[in-house]
Amino acid sequence: MQKNDVIYIAGHRGLVGSALVRRLAKDGCTNLLLRRSSELDLRNQAAVNAFFAEHKPAYVFLAAAKVGGIVANDTYPADFIRDNLQIQTNIIDAAYRNGVKKLLFLGSSCIYPKLAPQPMPENCLLTGPLEPTNECYAIAKIAGLKMCAAYRRQYGFNAISVMPTNLYGPEDNFDLQTSHVVPALIRKFHEAKVAGAATVSVWGTGQPRREFLHVDDLADACVYLMRNYDGEELVNIGVGQDITIGELARLVAEVVGFEGDIQFDVEKPDGTPRKLLDVSKLTSIGWKAGIDLREGLAQAYAWYTESEAR
Ligand code: GDP
Repeated sequence: MQKNDVIYIAGHRGLVGSALVRRLAKDGCTNLLLRRSSELDLRNQAAVNAFFAEHKPAYVFLAAAKVGGIVANDTYPADFIRDNLQIQTNIIDAAYRNGVKKLLFLGSSCIYPKLAPQPMPENCLLTGPLEPTNECYAIAKIAGLKMCAAYRRQYGFNAISVMPTNLYGPEDNFDLQTSHVVPALIRKFHEAKVAGAATVSVWGTGQPRREFLHVDDLADACVYLMRNYDGEELVNIGVGQDITIGELARLVAEVVGFEGDIQFDVEKPDGTPRKLLDVSKLTSIGWKAGIDLREGLAQAYAWYTESEAR
């Protein structure tokens, strides 16, 4: 991948896609091909084919997907499976047919079985039942990575698949009903500090363990793998370390400067007890996360307050 190659980032307005745009721009890549969903409906096969035929990108980062939290996934399973299957099938096939040199497909750690061993190695895929609430999303993602592997095997198309852990960073979703835990806590602690509130309520017992990767690290890993990895097997992308939600809450409170109490609302669900990726494969390929969690949270908090001010 050279600086003047045409690089298409599908989903460039999202958490991951926007981080890829920042990362590639920093590298001096000037030919980034970007389309909003209002300009190109990725669910429309004819439109996607015409777009690839016209612009002939050399590299593709497939970061476009219909995403959402547990409630959205549970309420709109048909939309999740249809939109994601359409988006990824259209892009992977058009990329192959239009001479794309390499494509990187982004999955999600929810593709692994609900009761997978921890940390979760890549080869635990399809060894057990999925978490039912996001099964439709996960099945679509599994179809995407199998499609990449099949196109590689049958057609010799250079497509790779990566599985990121829980992400956070700029352009995250800070809506308290639908967001993930990091943006929710940043917002809750910030609003409590501003309002001078004495306590903040954190969902669940505080005991579950999660792994958190800054999205700028993810983008760095994706660019690294685009340049240094060619293989049918998927690659996990994480930090290789997890913390409890209680520890995370204390860290966010410190970063935000909230000095009141933290209460755990045990009426709210804990979800799965632990979710940690095995990153030994990624480490052996030569990449390691660089952004410390405290530093990354401080950066995400700064982005949040600036976006509030806009
Ligand atoms: P998960 O990794 O798929 O379970 O997704 P989440 O990021 O939504 O939740 C991770 C953990 O954080 C769960 O144990 C939640 O109960 C806990 N948590 C604590 N407070 C919050 C909150 O305000 N919002 C969310 N989404 N999760 C919270």
